[in-house]
Amino acid sequence: MTTNSTTNSHLASCDDPQDPSLDVAEATARILEAVRPLGGSECLALRSALGRVLAEDVISPIDVPSHTNSAMDGFALRGTDLDAAGGAQLRLAGEAFAGRAYPRAVGTGECVRIMTGAAMPAGTDTVVMQERAQVEGGQVRLAPGQRPGQNVRRAGEDLAQGGVALQAGHRLVPADLGLLASLGRAEVRVRRRPRVAFFSTGDELRSIGEPLGEGEVYDSNRYTLFGMLSRLGAEIRDLGVVRDDREALRSALAEAAADGDLVLTSGGVSVGEADYMKDVLAELGAPAFWKIAMKPGRPLTFGRIGEAWYFGLPGNPVAVMVTFYQFVQPALRRLAGEASVAAPTLAACAAERIRKRPGRTEFVRGVLSPGDRLPRVAKAGTQGSGVLRSMSIANCFIVLPPEQGDVAEGDLVAVQPFEGIV
Ligand code: AMP
Ligand code: MG
Repeated sequence: MTTNSTTNSHLASCDDPQDPSLDVAEATARILEAVRPLGGSECLALRSALGRVLAEDVISPIDVPSHTNSAMDGFALRGTDLDAAGGAQLRLAGEAFAGRAYPRAVGTGECVRIMTGAAMPAGTDTVVMQERAQVEGGQVRLAPGQRPGQNVRRAGEDLAQGGVALQAGHRLVPADLGLLASLGRAEVRVRRRPRVAFFSTGDELRSIGEPLGEGEVYDSNRYTLFGMLSRLGAEIRDLGVVRDDREALRSALAEAAADGDLVLTSGGVSVGEADYMKDVLAELGAPAFWKIAMKPGRPLTFGRIGEAWYFGLPGNPVAVMVTFYQFVQPALRRLAGEASVAAPTLAACAAERIRKRPGRTEFVRGVLSPGDRLPRVAKAGTQGSGVLRSMSIANCFIVLPPEQGDVAEGDLVAVQPFEGIV
């Protein structure tokens, strides 16, 4: 198995007692410095491309909208027919409907009843909304105050023919599927999905369906990882539970790295167990062991095993989710070819006091809700690093930076919302 020494050299370990811990931002920067987008792409039908990352700039083959059209139900006319007060009295010459071309040009002194979205008849450039018009016999009286050119959507106003509709590196959301459909695109070229292999380590872990013995727990990390990886569009390979045993760890890691772009393990990094993992990793690729100045999720291993990237996550169920969100997520987005990898943050008002010791970044599980001017955020119950229930209640992380001490009620804090839907 090959080791990429140039890549690993700047992933220096922080085992040095002079430098016992690494800042969250520094760890993220080192990860993103190392990881590069994967090659490979495929052409997919529009619906199948939801959540995938564009491998090409999408150029618009048409103007959107394709015709200059009315933004209102009302009357189309020549702007030059408006009098000094912006009103007019015109002859009603016909009706223009959406999806049907109006057959004649509209002359001076004439207007046409027009529906929203109908192409502007030849000669017209202005629409007066129907609420500002009175029809009497064949005449239409338009209230004063109208401006030439108003209430018209120009051809190419949303997107001009030949313009970039969507850029390579963009992850497709529902609005993009609509946009691509509006261009008449049936297929798009997207990047290959990253292949991610993972397993859990621990003699105490049992899989669902097995009876629980004394001191044993069900393996939940493989399920949270499955969920988060699915949401990020990874191709997933679940290698199950691996015992705290040198040989078993070695063969599982080698198997995972053989056809994965990314390998994740959880557990086995706390004192006493770490030795096995350390030995095996030193043989397979020498990733760096980091102690990160964060809570929860202090121990993290990162580097290469063969051709694959490797993250050794802590065992605690919440620490797994926090470290995944902060470190694996940006790495995976980068591998997937996404142009923007940073998790968005927003400001919120603390709904209660939050205790915090300066010196490390804390990720507090929070519940974000609407507030007066800014959103409010409260703690999502008990914050123990094994308490998955509070993670399940939470809809954001409250991110408290290293220098931060206690947060008072009403203080501004940064939050990372867990997901967007549109
Ligand atoms: P470790 O880092 O292996 O010492 O694990 C720390 C804590 O997390 C221990 O209480 C483990 O039992 C628990 N843990 C480790 N892996 C898992 C897992 N896959 N599912 C649930 N709990 C786990
Ligand atoms: Mg363990």
